[in-house]
Amino acid sequence: MIEQIQCRKCLAIKAVAEFSNGRVVCKVCRKEQDRKYYAANREQINEQQRNYRSENHEQINEKNRKYYAANREYYRNYKAANREQIREQNRKYNAENREQINQQTLIRSLDPAKLAELKTKLEKL
Ligand SMILES: [Zn+2]
Repeated sequence: MIEQIQCRKCLAIKAVAEFSNGRVVCKVCRKEQDRKYYAANREQINEQQRNYRSENHEQINEKNRKYYAANREYYRNYKAANREQIREQNRKYNAENREQINQQTLIRSLDPAKLAELKTKLEKL
């Protein structure tokens, strides 16, 4: 017999698989709670994520590199199977974000030491 739990929020009795590990609220309710929380705290959450990314970008890049290396075959197959779709997405993205892309390209082309110096100056303003 499949074990069942009653959700404390919607009170529905559901299979254990409908709950995240150790949760007393079902996945449907949990998703709704997360959505509401995000809507109410959007700015703060985005700010935290921005800070986290900038403080940990080396570890994040390293992790992504490792993940990519471990799943290289998958990406290769995916690319081959979706070549046209990917090209179209990129074309659309580039057209819609041209200005931002140009800015990022410019920033990347700058000397990292100069960039750090510029950043320090900006922070002092
Ligand atoms: Zn529920």
